[in-house]
Amino acid sequence: MPDQARREENAERGTRNAELVQRARDVAGRAYAPYSHFRVGAAVKDANGVVYVGCNVESASYGLSMCAERNAIFAAVAAGGPRPFTALAVSCLDAAGGCTPCGACRQVMFEHLAADAAVYVDGVGQFTPPELLPRAFTLEAAES
Ligand SMILES: [Zn+2]
Repeated sequence: MPDQARREENAERGTRNAELVQRARDVAGRAYAPYSHFRVGAAVKDANGVVYVGCNVESASYGLSMCAERNAIFAAVAAGGPRPFTALAVSCLDAAGGCTPCGACRQVMFEHLAADAAVYVDGVGQFTPPELLPRAFTLEAAES
């Protein structure tokens, strides 16, 4: 690919990245996190480019709380967004160095995002689902 085309593609990708990360930051402001005070937002893009958002929602019964990433992915599934989803951004307003997704969210990302989908972790970097969760759990029978 010529350098000019590569620069333009990277610039466009950076713009899309910035828009998706901004959506995640915006929805993090709506997090219900009175216990952890750890506000997280996520935005996931479906195969048509439609974006769905989610924030973490906590409960006084802590184990019932749900992460932003899974809320965004579940919202996309519930809305009928075509899978696999193509990108996800996550942003935490209260972590100085950014925060990476928990193990449960990595498993759900692995199942619902394309293997080469971009996962933008605000303040940390860009990853693919297999990079975040190598050797993920599946229900596929092991080859003998
Ligand atoms: Zn999580």
